[in-house]
Amino acid sequence: MKNQAMKHKEDEVSSWQDQMKNFVNTVDRVKEYVNLTPEEEEVLRNNKTVWGATPHYASLMDRDDPACPIRRQIIPSRQEQENRFGMDDYLMWKENRATEEVRPDSIARQYKNRVAFTVTQTCGIYCRHCFRKELVVDGSLTLDFNVDEGLQWIAEHPEVRDVLITGGDPFLLSDEQLEYLIRKLRELPHVEMIRIGTRTPIVLPQRITPSLMKVLGGFHKVPIWINTQCNHPRELTEETARAVYNLLSCGVNVGNQAVLLKGINDDVETFRELHEKLLATRIRPYYVFYCEAAPGIDHFRTPVEKGSQLIRDALRGHTTGLAQPMHVVATNIGKIPLMPDYYIQGKNDKEYTLRNHKGETTTIPNVPE
Ligand SMILES: *Cc1c(COP(=O)(O)O)cnc(C)c1O
Ligand code: SF4
Repeated sequence: MKNQAMKHKEDEVSSWQDQMKNFVNTVDRVKEYVNLTPEEEEVLRNNKTVWGATPHYASLMDRDDPACPIRRQIIPSRQEQENRFGMDDYLMWKENRATEEVRPDSIARQYKNRVAFTVTQTCGIYCRHCFRKELVVDGSLTLDFNVDEGLQWIAEHPEVRDVLITGGDPFLLSDEQLEYLIRKLRELPHVEMIRIGTRTPIVLPQRITPSLMKVLGGFHKVPIWINTQCNHPRELTEETARAVYNLLSCGVNVGNQAVLLKGINDDVETFRELHEKLLATRIRPYYVFYCEAAPGIDHFRTPVEKGSQLIRDALRGHTTGLAQPMHVVATNIGKIPLMPDYYIQGKNDKEYTLRNHKGETTTIPNVPE
C-alpha cells in the first residue's frame, strides 16, 4: 500500500536532486513515514552505519508493520550486529581484490572478457542486505574509485568486450559525469556493450530525466543494458513504470537482479507476483541472487536450495516463461547457477522421461551421438 499521507510531501520534492536533498536518514525524518518500534528507534540512535532512502522509496513503507518488506530494506535491524555465517573480508574475497593481477580499486574481475567497474559508493537507498555493505554501508573498507584510472586499465585490456558499470549507484553521478564515462568507453574499439547496475528506476525514478535519456539514448553501435534491483512487488510504482518506459523508448534495455530475502520475497505468492509484475512494468527478470555471505546479514539469508525451489513451485510452467530469472550464487569464481533439476526423471538406451511443473511425465527418444 502506498503511504498516502506522504504522497503530497513527495510530490513537493519531485526532482531527483530534491529527492536526494530530502533523503530520509534521520530518526526525525523516518518518523514522518513510520511509527518506529522502541527497538528500531534504539538501534537507529546507536547506529554507526550509512542508512536511509529517498522520500519516494520511504513513502512505500507501511506505517505500522515493522516486518514490512520495504521497511526491512531501509531500517537497520539489531540482527546486523550478529554474524554467525558471514565471511570476514567478504568483498576482498568476492571481487578477487587480493590476486596477483594488478588492477585499480574500481575494477573487479572474475571473467576474462568482462569486468565490473565501480564508479561511486553513493546510493539512493542503503539496502540493509547489500553484499557490498563493508564498502557502502559499514565503511569498514576504503577503496579509491578514480574513473580515469579504471578507463585507462580497460583501454589496456582489449580482451574486455563488456563493461558493467556499478557502485554504489552509478546514476547518482551527474549527467556530465555519465556522459564522459560512456563516451570514453565507447571510444575503446574493443568495448562492444555497456551495462549499468542501478536501483534508481525503483528508488529514484525521477532520475530518468530527458537529459539523462539524451546521454544514454540513441541508436549506437555500443548499446547500453541496464539492470535494476527490485525485490518486492510493492516497489513497482507508476513512477517506476514511467521511468522504465522512458529508458526503453530511448533504446536502453531494462532487466532485474533481485536478491532472495528471507521474510521479504521467499514465499511462493510474493515471488510469483514480483516476477509477473516486473514483466507488467516492462522489466525482464535476469537474475535472482542467493543472499551473499557478507557479514551481518544472516537474518536475510535462506537455505541455499530455496531459490530453485521457488522457481520450481512459483514460476516455471506456472506463469509466463519470460518471468523466469536464473537463480545464481555470486562467488569469487563467478556466478554459479542453482536451478531446479527435477526435469529429467530417467534415461535409458531408448528414451528420456521428463517431468513438468505439475508432476506429469512424458518421454522423448534418446538419440545416440
Ligand atoms: C556479475 C559480474 C559480472 C557479470 O556477470 P554476467 O553473468 O555476465 O551478468 C562480471 N564481472 C563481475 C566481477 C561480476 O561480479
Ligand atoms: S543500491 Fe546496490 S550498492 Fe547501494 S546499498 Fe543497495 S544493493 Fe548496495
